[in-house]
Amino acid sequence: MSTSPATGVEAGRLPVAAPADVERTVERAREAGRWWAGLGFTARRERLLRWRSLLAGRIEELAELVHTEGGKPVADAVVEILTAIEHVDWAARNARRVLGPRRVRSRLIVVEFSAHLEYQPYGVVGVIGPWNYPVHTPLGSAAYALAAGNAVVFKPSEYTPAVGQWLVDTFTEVVPEQPVFTTVHGLGDVGAALCRSGVDKLAFTGSTATAKKVMAACAESLTPVLVEAGGKDAMIVDSDADLDAAAEACVWGGLTNAGQTCIGIERVYAVEPVFDAFVAKVVERAGRLTVGAEGADIGPITMPRQLDVIRRHIDDALARGGRAVLGGADAVRPPYVHPTVLVDVPEDADAVRQETFGPTLTVNRVRDADEAVTRANALPYGLGGSVFGRRRAVAVARRLRAGMVAVNSALTFAGMSTLPFGGVGESGFGRIHGEDGLREFGRAKAVTRRRGPSLLPAATFERTPADVARLVRATKLLYGRRR
Ligand code: NDP
Repeated sequence: MSTSPATGVEAGRLPVAAPADVERTVERAREAGRWWAGLGFTARRERLLRWRSLLAGRIEELAELVHTEGGKPVADAVVEILTAIEHVDWAARNARRVLGPRRVRSRLIVVEFSAHLEYQPYGVVGVIGPWNYPVHTPLGSAAYALAAGNAVVFKPSEYTPAVGQWLVDTFTEVVPEQPVFTTVHGLGDVGAALCRSGVDKLAFTGSTATAKKVMAACAESLTPVLVEAGGKDAMIVDSDADLDAAAEACVWGGLTNAGQTCIGIERVYAVEPVFDAFVAKVVERAGRLTVGAEGADIGPITMPRQLDVIRRHIDDALARGGRAVLGGADAVRPPYVHPTVLVDVPEDADAVRQETFGPTLTVNRVRDADEAVTRANALPYGLGGSVFGRRRAVAVARRLRAGMVAVNSALTFAGMSTLPFGGVGESGFGRIHGEDGLREFGRAKAVTRRRGPSLLPAATFERTPADVARLVRATKLLYGRRR
């Protein structure tokens, strides 16, 4: 039974899968995947666009379920679902262009052959998702995998199984013929069983610690994995930033979904000349936010054990000399955490180094943008980031060790379906969204085709010593020049 973290009310009842159920589901998905791949890009596009319309038409119903099951404010759920729908739309419309068969240019050295490329589906893709964005995050993998022609077996988080089932049930309404998109429910052991079930690729989104277990399980069968893991994203506020805009984006980017966002702003580096004014604006905005179950800006913390982590990070920051300019030691009032802004927190504090996943921000002062970049890049994580400023902002963004950066906004790259999404270092590897996100779910298939005789026969035992001498001369002619 799945329940609301705010009220305990039931959100849904789902059957827990045994390992044999997982294998059976993947087996059935394999057959379904062959059928789905056989439909071709045009028929799949048509089905996916019908599903997109269904999702859009029932957005209030889904937002209500996301709110009940995960505790997220309805408005945040609407924004999440909207971006997910945009990804379904883009993946459906662009799969053929990005993945479909096409000619590519050949080179002078092999000019007698034409070259063909396409990206063929893997077969069955396993998707393991987290609870914090139970629509946007799994669909970032599943919609692209489906558009590429794969069947998908989805293991939602134990905290949001009803939302996962809703997505699969609505997809089944538009694709009733075969179990192309299915779920398996349960705890981590069901996720582990999915890794070992014979899926052809595994797309994991969740914590870095679990990602390592997933990789280890997939390594047993050389199953390729895509890892979208945690982060500790930084915002940099430069001296020529629009401070009102920066404060607004910082409060939203850090505190939306009660801070339970993989690409949420968790630490801020503001340059000395604007530090005090920026902090005042952040505190003023964050202090206005309401906290509660219904109609509030900030909902409950979804996972009860996360409350201990948030409390520990706040206490540790204060014990090490940080100051709370909003919230603080008594901000954690289960199941809620009130907005907390901590300043001058030592860089080795847990609140600066580890994922807090609560509505808290650390704001530290730095000499200049260079020092901000050094500090921002000092962690093993490297998911997203944000830079506010004018003259240097894009240059600073390019220097951040992160997969995505928003300049003069926060988190906006997640809704940009034309851009790839993913991290570096302990934030993972591989990409969802955009062209890279489609290619992630297709195997490159390369075909060469002879279109004439070889003037310089190389790939044959029929070649003569004179042919080899001509090959040497051609090599020097083509590649021996200095430029
Ligand atoms: P977890 O890593 O705890 O869980 C993620 C999923 O993995 C859940 O479905 C979980 O099941 C499952 N799982 C647990 N153990 C195993 C195992 N041994 N083998 C296979 N699967 C397993 O993460 P959370 O659900 O707590 O999500 C929060 C984390 O996700 C944060 O670190 C956040 O930063 C990250 N995240 C990253 C995103 C990105 O795009 N980079 C996006 C969103 C979140 P169960 O829940 O039943 O335990």
